[in-house]
Amino acid sequence: MATDYDTPRDARDGDGGSDDSIEALKGRREDKQSPVVDADPEAAEGLELPGADLSGEELTVQVVPLQHDEFTCATCFLVHHRTRLGATDRDGRPACRDCAA
Ligand SMILES: [Zn+2]
Repeated sequence: MATDYDTPRDARDGDGGSDDSIEALKGRREDKQSPVVDADPEAAEGLELPGADLSGEELTVQVVPLQHDEFTCATCFLVHHRTRLGATDRDGRPACRDCAA
């Protein structure tokens, strides 16, 4: 929570109460700003972060290039069989039936 320094203080705050010593204020502020780290280190072990080095990984599926009877939908970018062609937009780009609907 951001501290609003423009907020007028209560009159009693100016009386130098023991609660308002610099040390007490510092301690309070640190308490509020300490980040809450509740992540379980063991749970994070199997976590894969985006951008992780996957160069050692091997594909488990065979990648087949676009076939002559297939098209890439210009809207969802999925490759569909020609029979799934719904329409072409005004630029002549194909859209699948799902996207053309
Ligand atoms: Zn589509």
